[in-house]
Amino acid sequence: MCGGPHDTGRFRIRFRFLEDAEPRADAAIPRYFLRMSRSLPVALATIASLALTSPAISQQTKAPIDWDALTSETVQLLSGYIKVNTTNPQGTELEAARFLKHVLDREGIESRILDTAELKPVGRANFYARLKGNGSKKAIALVHHMDVVPANPATWTVDAFSGAVKDGAVWGRGTIDMKAEGIVQLMTMIAIKRSGLPLTRDIVFIGNADEELGSTGAIVFVQRHPDLLKDVEFLMTEGGGNQVDDGKLAYYGVGVSEKRTFWQHLTVAGTPSHASRPTKLNPVPRLVAALDKIGKYETPLHVTAGVEKYFHDIASTFPEPKRGWLLDVKKGLENPQARAWILSDVYWNAILRNTISLTGLQGSNKTNVIPAEASADIDIRLLPDTDPDEFLAMLKRIVNDTAVHFTTQLQPKPPLESPIATDLFRAIERASRERDPNALVTTPMLTAATDRPTYRKLGIITYGFDPFKIEAADLQKGMHGNDEHITVANIAFGLKYTYDVLRYVQ
Ligand SMILES: [Zn+2]
Repeated sequence: MCGGPHDTGRFRIRFRFLEDAEPRADAAIPRYFLRMSRSLPVALATIASLALTSPAISQQTKAPIDWDALTSETVQLLSGYIKVNTTNPQGTELEAARFLKHVLDREGIESRILDTAELKPVGRANFYARLKGNGSKKAIALVHHMDVVPANPATWTVDAFSGAVKDGAVWGRGTIDMKAEGIVQLMTMIAIKRSGLPLTRDIVFIGNADEELGSTGAIVFVQRHPDLLKDVEFLMTEGGGNQVDDGKLAYYGVGVSEKRTFWQHLTVAGTPSHASRPTKLNPVPRLVAALDKIGKYETPLHVTAGVEKYFHDIASTFPEPKRGWLLDVKKGLENPQARAWILSDVYWNAILRNTISLTGLQGSNKTNVIPAEASADIDIRLLPDTDPDEFLAMLKRIVNDTAVHFTTQLQPKPPLESPIATDLFRAIERASRERDPNALVTTPMLTAATDRPTYRKLGIITYGFDPFKIEAADLQKGMHGNDEHITVANIAFGLKYTYDVLRYVQ
């Protein structure tokens, strides 16, 4: 693997030099000399000659990045972006797209507001921009969704759409999911342009409408603009899953796969009558019998490639014998004791099998009336390589009652499983380990849904990438919850981290 703490001296030196972004190459070298001379005097001559002869360095240092200033600018921009209320339903992402376009116009980066006629109702849009590289490698896309879920003012202590900056954080709906990531992507692209970093890959920036409801933004974008995506090799968006507990990083998570939502609505028809005289045409017991069979059914365990790597990676953080069980999770699951322990974790259980949760249930609204219909809702989440039709057929066989009708509520998105041995994965590993030398960089599966499958369908390698280190407790509370916020420290971290990933993937 390329990069990381054991890199060659040359790479480490280049990295530090670039990251520090001295004012000019000629002015930078003496300062660099001074710093290095304290720790590595013998290597000075070599270092200086490398620094002077690298074309990448001389181009880079033409316009250095002032990270503190960039962070302040990003905080202000995010505050403004939060004020653009894109609550979905409605969405009104057109306003958000105009906001982004205004920023990029100032920077001289080409951008377009798209799909305003196709996205319903009025006031919706997708957004697209591109920063050109030299074209020697394929493009990389940074994608975020511009819409947010509703915020209930009664349960917030700050105005969810004021974009307040206080107590070292930006507050408001969308700061975690996912306007901060979008603005960090935008500002990283702008920083790259300003700094003159040489690009082998174009950087594509996309803002989608409607991720939180029907995903129509990404679906329409992919249908209508395959030309804008045809040279895109990699895509990064939400769905990574960096795990931070009590200030300690457990791992950097790169999302290479996610489960597929496959919701079912079940109905049984009956004949309404007075409940004082029971009949065989009451739909309620029939539905309950079907649900009982489904509820008792245990879906088989199945280990996908990304999940296998995830368990293998995190094994080292557990004592024996658990370490051994996770190191080879397929084998571990054959051991009854190990299996019981692994499946007792609700997240681990959910990434090792297709899951079924019985959730909604409707019968009669009066105790003394046998209803005309009974119905139920089932939340099914499929592993990426499960065929939905086959799964549904299997479910019908288990129920074994033709009176029970199944309706698929939302067509499942295409399956998402991206390869791991890629330049982008290696770039993320390198940037991560520079920040946390012993960090695990692993591939947890997302049990929720994102827009990634829609892009993956085109063959684009799509990763969930979180540029922040957010406490697990804050993530749980803020995402779709109350008092959502992101710290300024996290924004500063995210800018440099994203910048480095984009630099290393060139
Ligand atoms: Zn989101």
